[in-house]
Amino acid sequence: MEIPKLVTILVPTYNEKDVLNMLYERLLNTINSNSKYNFEILFINDGSKDNTLDIIRNLREKDKRVCYVNLSRNYGKETAMMAGFDYCKGDCVIILDADLQDPPELIPEMLKYWEEGYDDVYAKRRSRKGESFLKKFTSKIYYKTLQSVTNIEIQKDTGDFRLLDRRCIEALKQLRESQRYTKGLFSWIGYKKKEILFDRDPRAAGKTKWNFRKLVGLSIDGLTSFTTAPLRMSAILGIIISLVGFLYMMVIIIKTLIYGIDVPGYSSTMVVILFLGGIQLIFLGIIGEYLGRAFYETKDRPLYFIDCYNEERETNENLNK
Ligand code: UDP
Ligand code: MG
Repeated sequence: MEIPKLVTILVPTYNEKDVLNMLYERLLNTINSNSKYNFEILFINDGSKDNTLDIIRNLREKDKRVCYVNLSRNYGKETAMMAGFDYCKGDCVIILDADLQDPPELIPEMLKYWEEGYDDVYAKRRSRKGESFLKKFTSKIYYKTLQSVTNIEIQKDTGDFRLLDRRCIEALKQLRESQRYTKGLFSWIGYKKKEILFDRDPRAAGKTKWNFRKLVGLSIDGLTSFTTAPLRMSAILGIIISLVGFLYMMVIIIKTLIYGIDVPGYSSTMVVILFLGGIQLIFLGIIGEYLGRAFYETKDRPLYFIDCYNEERETNENLNK
């Protein structure tokens, strides 16, 4: 008899004590109705400050399909997912949020497409219940901008809820940049993609870990890690402004030669100084943003440290292999 394929369900968790048991029950339904596969539920505890880890340990006591990696502190979801890729054993991995915003009932459909030969089956939101107008609006504008300046296709209204074949996982494991924008990385690695639609539910319990500041940070990471377009834009704008400046200089010189020395206007000088000063500062900031990224990447630090994998305390040897 053929050995059933192993499917890893990867759940990054940070302070999710209210939802974990609920999540496990829902997952169990899906798992039990798909006896064709073996399952592994891999929780990445991203330095939770509540008793999330204890709940996971209890689950593991009951059910050995549950395993966990306990990170040494909170590293953020992007890094937690990376730890998941490093530790998952499955032939494919399904990334799922702990808060049940990604319905596990979609898993069979994903598996179906995987069997048909797709490497990356991603779930696109048809609707976004429980999200504010502002969040929806800003995210729309942001993706439009990001898409227009990058060559790779960024999937709209798509989170991290997706099935990835082993090939994709091995590819992602090689992209060990420290300021990760995984959503872009999924596109960057390529492979055969399939879109399925779903209605995203509101969070089951607990509250979102994202605040406005973190979202702004993530969007800047997204832009700066996939394109140098802002740098090019500043160069082009610089050229245009210098050309205009040059023409204006000629006009002033000629005017002075013909009409003699004129008393220079205070306001026009101020306007030029302020305007150019502002632009220069903006572009210095942009350059700084890229320089900062280079700074972090050249440190070449491991992405994370782990405290334990299942019951065992880990040494740091198998990191960044
Ligand atoms: N998460 C994490 N580390 C963090 C923040 C979040 O592992 O530092 C996990 C969280 O437990 C959840 C998922 O990432 O499973 C998505 O987080 P959240 O629901 O807060 O984000 P949203 O759905 O609001 O975008
Ligand atoms: Mg959520």
